[in-house]
Amino acid sequence: MKSKRGAGARAKLREFFLTNLNRVLDSKELRAAAGDTSEWARRVRELRTEEGYQILTHNDRADLKPGEYLLIDPKPIPAFARGISKETRAYVLDRNGFTCQMCGAVAGEEHPYDPGRKTRLQIGHIIDKSMGGSDEIGNLRAICSVCNEGARNLTLDRPSLQKLLIQIRRATASDQLAALEWLQKKFSGQSSDRPHQQKSP
Ligand SMILES: [Zn+2]
Repeated sequence: MKSKRGAGARAKLREFFLTNLNRVLDSKELRAAAGDTSEWARRVRELRTEEGYQILTHNDRADLKPGEYLLIDPKPIPAFARGISKETRAYVLDRNGFTCQMCGAVAGEEHPYDPGRKTRLQIGHIIDKSMGGSDEIGNLRAICSVCNEGARNLTLDRPSLQKLLIQIRRATASDQLAALEWLQKKFSGQSSDRPHQQKSP
């Protein structure tokens, strides 16, 4: 009876978060949405840890107060990604310069192909699991939620150095400077002793 009631409260909260995307919810609303159970906070935690919903709190975002919750991305992180350690995740994101390896969107900035939506990065596979790819760190990369939604089983070619340089030469001076600043930031922040030194596949 108790677990059944808990599952019901969790489903109600899931529904409530999904119908209130991008809206900051407070503990009072969530408690009511869960059917006025004192266990609502535990159910919210389960949505994060067991179902992979990226429900943000003041620990994730400075503009949220304690007791405030926010769901932006309706898509939960896939189960395999939740199994990836914080260290591995941080390492992969750092290695990829906090940039989506398919479209180049930068974490936290407005998404270039989905204006108004902030880029959220997830960890994805370079070679998809369905094509024999592994969970090894060498087969992981940063990928944004927009690409992740449309890009299963696709492998996208990186631009060649020649094409990249041509694009940069054609860009405006201010865009070139922005690119320079981005590269400087990327390479100045890198530490020399990194965890998980492994060879790429
Ligand atoms: Zn992307």
